[in-house]
Amino acid sequence: MKKLLVVLVIMFFWAISAHALTVSFPEEVGQGEPFWLEIVSEKQPAGVTVIWMGKEVDYPVDLPGTQRILLGAGLDQKGSFPLAISFDLPQGPLSKHFQVSIVEKQYPIQHLTLPDSMVTPPQEVIDRIVREREKTVAALNVLSRHRYFSEEFLRPVPGSVSSPFGVRRFLNNQPRSPHRGVDLRGAEGTPVQAVSSGRVILTGDFYYGGQTVIVDHGLGLQTVYMHLSDKKVSEGQLVHKGDLVGLVGMTGRATGPHLHLGVYILGEAVDPMFLFSD
Ligand SMILES: [Zn+2]
Repeated sequence: MKKLLVVLVIMFFWAISAHALTVSFPEEVGQGEPFWLEIVSEKQPAGVTVIWMGKEVDYPVDLPGTQRILLGAGLDQKGSFPLAISFDLPQGPLSKHFQVSIVEKQYPIQHLTLPDSMVTPPQEVIDRIVREREKTVAALNVLSRHRYFSEEFLRPVPGSVSSPFGVRRFLNNQPRSPHRGVDLRGAEGTPVQAVSSGRVILTGDFYYGGQTVIVDHGLGLQTVYMHLSDKKVSEGQLVHKGDLVGLVGMTGRATGPHLHLGVYILGEAVDPMFLFSD
């Protein structure tokens, strides 16, 4: 995650019965940006619990020495937010409370013209849209304690960005929620690879997203692949990084073939491009 090199890093150090712990995280992050919380421990704690954005996560302590936890700043959040970390140490529990500032980012504005039926959906599909949104939100909030992902993420298609993350969209001059993913260029039929290993938790053919695949990478990280011409995985299937999940298409609300890639951390959309080093 090359772009995540931070200027401001807070370091804390405890010496409790010769047990040194160092915690690092950026003091300031932009709206919609992922960040790493790094914990270096002389001895392995029995457990680490983090509370961020009101979500409490027990992280498995399977890495000796350094523990790296992926967190994210919401696109709609601004200000100072508490970050609480609890350690289950041999000497007993230890809790520390910090603050992380989420600073405003200026995302571009984009005007799009689409058929009216896709901007203002007909009454008969409203129930369908609501049902699909509920299923999607539930999938994006799945919190499995197993970590499937590794720290090197794979770009799912080679194509460049046609519409960046966070763009404030106006469809036929009507304001819409910001773009919670990136659009990557790709010809119809281009293979779409899994960004990292995980389990497919939702597939569907949705009104807006078209042929959609959602992969759970564990510990609150999910990736979303939309507008596919074809899905190549089914719900419950385990995928490895680089496995084929589908083919680029233009199903659902799309004006041309492309991959909409979404990355969610603890239910919040973050800019997927921060995950890729190229
Ligand atoms: Zn998109």
